[in-house]
Amino acid sequence: MKLHELKAENDYFNFSDKFYQQLQATPLNHAHLISYNKHAFDEIGLDESEGDTKEFVEFINGERLLENCQPYAMAYAGHQFGYFVPQLGDGRAINLGRVKGWHLQTKGSGLTRYSRQGDGRAVLRSSIREYIMSEAMHALGIPTTRALALIGSKHRVYRSYEDVETGAIVMRMSPSWIRFGSFEFFARQKDAQEHLTQLAEYVIEHTYPHLKEEEKKYEKLFFEVTDKTAQLMALWQTYGFMHGVMNTDNMSIAGLTIDYGPFAFMDYFDLECICNHTDAEGRYSYINQPYIGRWNLEVLAHSLGKICDHEALLEYLNTYMFTFKKEYWHRMSLRLGLDDTQSSNSYSTLIKELIGALQEAKMDYNYFFYKLTHLSSFEQISEVVDHAVFRESLTIWFESYKKALEAENITLKQAQQRMKKVNPLYVIKNYMLQEAIEKATQGDFSLVNDLLHIAQHPFDEHEGFERYKKPTPIEFANLQLSCSS
Ligand code: AMP
Ligand code: MG
Repeated sequence: MKLHELKAENDYFNFSDKFYQQLQATPLNHAHLISYNKHAFDEIGLDESEGDTKEFVEFINGERLLENCQPYAMAYAGHQFGYFVPQLGDGRAINLGRVKGWHLQTKGSGLTRYSRQGDGRAVLRSSIREYIMSEAMHALGIPTTRALALIGSKHRVYRSYEDVETGAIVMRMSPSWIRFGSFEFFARQKDAQEHLTQLAEYVIEHTYPHLKEEEKKYEKLFFEVTDKTAQLMALWQTYGFMHGVMNTDNMSIAGLTIDYGPFAFMDYFDLECICNHTDAEGRYSYINQPYIGRWNLEVLAHSLGKICDHEALLEYLNTYMFTFKKEYWHRMSLRLGLDDTQSSNSYSTLIKELIGALQEAKMDYNYFFYKLTHLSSFEQISEVVDHAVFRESLTIWFESYKKALEAENITLKQAQQRMKKVNPLYVIKNYMLQEAIEKATQGDFSLVNDLLHIAQHPFDEHEGFERYKKPTPIEFANLQLSCSS
């Protein structure tokens, strides 16, 4: 379909207007296209040829609205680094309605009622990061919001005393933008029960429709969010993804990865790795992520518990770690080419041993799996371990691994056939994004588009980009990024 043929559906205006603000975007000056995402165009049924039009840039910039579109910003609250903040919301994001089940939202579209001290803008660097990374996550099968397009501008934005940056906008899309923090906000209002019931019904209708006719449906809603969150954490841990700002306002009720900030795919393996420079205590370190997921669910239970059996919610939370571990062992087994559904004993011991070995080895985490997937034979394990700073523990681990394959009665080659499906050749690291950002700042957007393509096809070869298959150069490994974006 052409852009002018797309029609937005609105579903948020049945709530009281204290939960959102209807407003228009404040367009960026001299906006221009940087990239659009063909895959996302397909999702919303938009013709690819529309991406190159002036109208399309105007659409992303908020100057042109889809038919029936009534833009709005949502209110929510949240626990930020453990402390409750009663009033947050879309401070720089504007919602543009739903198309084919995808809620479109631009990030960086100007001030809203919820901007607080902020300027309503997003800088180019953080917009490039979110645009590429959300697609990389999707391609790895990790539930996430998506990105439709990215525009840049000459609009001046200030994030530090020294530098002037330019504003950009990513159009993001998600089946739901409701956060744990949305429930916290509704729970603080007068007539909280009535509002929470309406919100829970909304979430059930749009995201968990199979619960509609169920008894105890609000309890069941929480149970499903708990399971989805545990599964998401398992995937993050399996691929070494660190979100960086797991505040409850950044937790999706649909169990998706949302609000990309100072995230990273871990470079060399380190359980204590912290990717967010602001997080001095390591609240959101790699190892803490699953526990924080649970902590955040407890906060959600506190709000949702006002309209159902709070005790039942807390009791269900006791299954969270079990679900997380089960999924984590399963996914890690797959990354090792092992089939834990066939095996009577789980591979948790083998995986724990690997984690211990990698912690000692100081080896690029995803590169380990890549090399294992392409290892010639067990006589040649130096192909893998030579990429570690400390080799001994990994060498010992290979003995256990060999035994595990023997017990499953499969060869290394057979295991590798399985591994190829889950161990990508390319993982998008922060240093790669940084290279794309530096080029884009000079007006060259080719690497943004190339990285997007690689991110979307991580299991394929990409000629000319072989160096991105290698471990992160040590000078760029496990660096922390600031929150300011
Ligand atoms: P985040 O950590 O990016 O998820 O943002 C936390 C809160 O701060 C949300 O309510 C955002 O909308 C708001 N926020 C972040 N940056 C800005 C900005 N530049 N202008 C306005 N609001 C912002
Ligand atoms: Mg956020």
